[in-house]
Amino acid sequence: MSIAETSPAAATGGTDVRAELLAADADFLWHPWSPSRVNPDTVLAVSGDGCEIRDADGRTYLDAKSSGLNATLGYGSRPVIDAVAGQLARLMTYDTGEGANEPAIRLAERIAGLTGPRLTRTFFCNSGSEAAEAAIRIARFYHAVRGERQRGLVVSFENAYHGATLGAAASSAGASPVSAEFTPAGFVTLPGRTDALRDFLAGQGDRTAAVLLEPVQARGAHQVPDDRLREVRELCRRYGALLILDEVTTGFGRTGRMFGYQHAGVEPDLLTTSKGLAAGYMSLAAVTTTEHVFDTFDTHRKQAGFVHGHTHSGHAAACAAGLAVLDVIERDGLVANAAARGTQLLTALDGVRGLPFVRDVRGRGLLAAVEFDGSPRASLVRRRMKEDGILVRRTGPNIVIAPPLIIDAGRTDRIAEAITAAAEAAADLKT
Ligand code: PLP
Repeated sequence: MSIAETSPAAATGGTDVRAELLAADADFLWHPWSPSRVNPDTVLAVSGDGCEIRDADGRTYLDAKSSGLNATLGYGSRPVIDAVAGQLARLMTYDTGEGANEPAIRLAERIAGLTGPRLTRTFFCNSGSEAAEAAIRIARFYHAVRGERQRGLVVSFENAYHGATLGAAASSAGASPVSAEFTPAGFVTLPGRTDALRDFLAGQGDRTAAVLLEPVQARGAHQVPDDRLREVRELCRRYGALLILDEVTTGFGRTGRMFGYQHAGVEPDLLTTSKGLAAGYMSLAAVTTTEHVFDTFDTHRKQAGFVHGHTHSGHAAACAAGLAVLDVIERDGLVANAAARGTQLLTALDGVRGLPFVRDVRGRGLLAAVEFDGSPRASLVRRRMKEDGILVRRTGPNIVIAPPLIIDAGRTDRIAEAITAAAEAAADLKT
């Protein structure tokens, strides 16, 4: 795809147009998560191809953060673009609240083929936050309709990130400095140790609706060890709490398995997915659950069902994107590629591990992080990597590396070399 196709003004106008766009950006666009009006570091992307994006100055970057960890197929994936364009021309969408459309039905069926045999029922929404919100409501509703209204508590863990809407943010209290200001009642944040959960459930298990966690945390690639995930599963079963696994970032291949939970051989009661589902080509998210949970609504609520949904739940073009994304993942063996490139990346980062100001190097598949001795050094490393043509994400003291799953061996080595060079160059920072 040429720059002219995607952004004629930025493509043809050179630096004047870039300057004008950045001025308008400063005046009109409210960036998520960004406190400032003017960010001199803004990458004004105008086109993308594979793992690379080009900015308005004509500079090319290797996008080792997959946009917002969502561009799992990289940029310009023709089968996905064609599927979306075809669906938009045929029928952009039709409301799945009162009706249905073919892509939504087919995608729900396709997901069941990947998550089954227990997780077979999918509710669509539009963002990871909405998926967390829906899962929390399903969990509370589930217990309430079974006559256990007292089960309202939702347990999550320190450093988790589940989203920016009310319940999702309340479940991310450890990750966000502002969420405490508007945390509603009924949300509990625990340290990430099994004994903390065991102790909590021993006292409050009969008041707990759900336990919510990411198999690998997006904010720094902290991994829940497989045996711990199995213990959490068992504790939830013992105390009757539903287990919600947030695979908004890890779902659809990123960890080297189709889903992160498959490493541990456990299944959640509710699974949330989003980023890799439509891979950034459309906005789409899903909550996938068991027939048991679904039937509970059907049995107890008769026609009322789950009183929850969105105008764009099961948007036809978004679901068409999801189907095409799954085709590409399967056709190109991208789950296996994520596993192989992830192993290569961690091995190549061995040298960084030895640096005195590096606290940890960790990862699973293509969700990896290098943790430094503080945010300033991590910021410096991120900036140096950008100067070197590689975009990574910084969260706190971590540099998070999460390139598209299509990445090849050469680019994987380039990322490792760039972070090694940037980390060595950041050695002299006085913290
Ligand atoms: N859950 C996880 C694990 C995430 O990484 C994110 C986003 O970064 C979310 C939920 C929220 O998703 P969204 O930004 O689409 O609302």
